[in-house]
Amino acid sequence: MDSLANYSIEFVKLKLGHNNFDYKISDAFFSLKENSLFQQGSVNVHLNIDRKERLINLDFKVDGIVKSECDVCLDSLDLTVNGAETIVIKISDEPKESDGEIIYLSPNDLSINVYDYIYEIICTCIPMVKTCENNANKVKACNAEMLNFLSASSEENSNIEPQTDPRWDKLKKIKD
Ligand SMILES: [Zn+2]
Repeated sequence: MDSLANYSIEFVKLKLGHNNFDYKISDAFFSLKENSLFQQGSVNVHLNIDRKERLINLDFKVDGIVKSECDVCLDSLDLTVNGAETIVIKISDEPKESDGEIIYLSPNDLSINVYDYIYEIICTCIPMVKTCENNANKVKACNAEMLNFLSASSEENSNIEPQTDPRWDKLKKIKD
């Protein structure tokens, strides 16, 4: 079972220089996130932490697949997750608000949790509009039956709405 604690890194205990971490993310990873965009997936995460006295570089590489659904026909999709991201931590006596990719920590901070970073990196790998063309294993066509159903029901709605919405009748009266 996955837990947030698995992603907590006590960087103060790391040796100076490079330290490597590997995570195998499965469905349980996504269940830890409230309102997660994904419920299922399988992603390998490689994290290299380069620790210097007051500067820590976190290099993330993600590679795998998450399950989602087509925005057009709602068929299930496998989406490729492949990307890299670097986050820089500065240890500062006067920590500032984090600006983009630099995070400021005070000398009293001992650990950092990388769960949210991994989750966000996975999300940035996913196209804004996901359709059957994005399916990882095999590009497929949208589900034709579903498309017919959706277009039929949207035509139905546009026919019914003006007649059943009482506001339209009121407006008509005002116009007359
Ligand atoms: Zn589709």
